[in-house]
Amino acid sequence: MSRVLIVEDEESIAEIEKDYLELSGFEVVIKPDGTSGLKAAMEEDFDICILDVMLPGVDGFEICKQVREVKNMPIIMVSAKKEDIDKIRGLGAGADDYMTKPFSPSEMVARVKAHLSRYERLVSSAKAENDVIEIRGIKIDKTARRVFVNGEEKVFTTKEFDLLTFLAETPNRVYTKEELFKAIWDMDSIGDIATVTVHIKKIREKIEYDTSKPQYIETIWGVGYRFKV
Ligand code: CA
Repeated sequence: MSRVLIVEDEESIAEIEKDYLELSGFEVVIKPDGTSGLKAAMEEDFDICILDVMLPGVDGFEICKQVREVKNMPIIMVSAKKEDIDKIRGLGAGADDYMTKPFSPSEMVARVKAHLSRYERLVSSAKAENDVIEIRGIKIDKTARRVFVNGEEKVFTTKEFDLLTFLAETPNRVYTKEELFKAIWDMDSIGDIATVTVHIKKIREKIEYDTSKPQYIETIWGVGYRFKV
């Protein structure tokens, strides 16, 4: 069920919005002022936000700006003032849409649905692109955390998988052992950069045809490693 955050200080408007959205199967939370609205938007999980501009505490523009910096949910701004609407439209305040008060509640529900399905499409197409890395016979399925070499699945430990994926995601870029250790292992975990060497060796045994002549993970002497394309 999609969750909608309504930040609106006019109780009657907020209640009408809530009723219509709930009838359409949404879960709705109302915050009656800017301060609690901003807090909820930042700290809780919502799928979309309907945001009034004029609010006690923090105003809608500021909420929109701050939320945009960290969250990816659609934001529909609402205002009765023509100047506000011009500002939303002109400034690119970061809102996805705007509505002028008074608006029809069913129109609002239609827009909420349209924005949610647009976001879902965006998110799923981004996922589909990032899910699988394929480089010369090696296929890394990041979602399923599986690795195939020329169609044959190889079993990887968590750290081996993370290290291989990290290198393959930025092919041809050379990383030092220190950088790799920092990226894959916790800073305060037990171990040192020799751990990286050991893991590279194990990965090579699984993906290379001849480990003495690596075709994928190349050693750059005196520097570190890279995934060669
Ligand atoms: Ca208001």
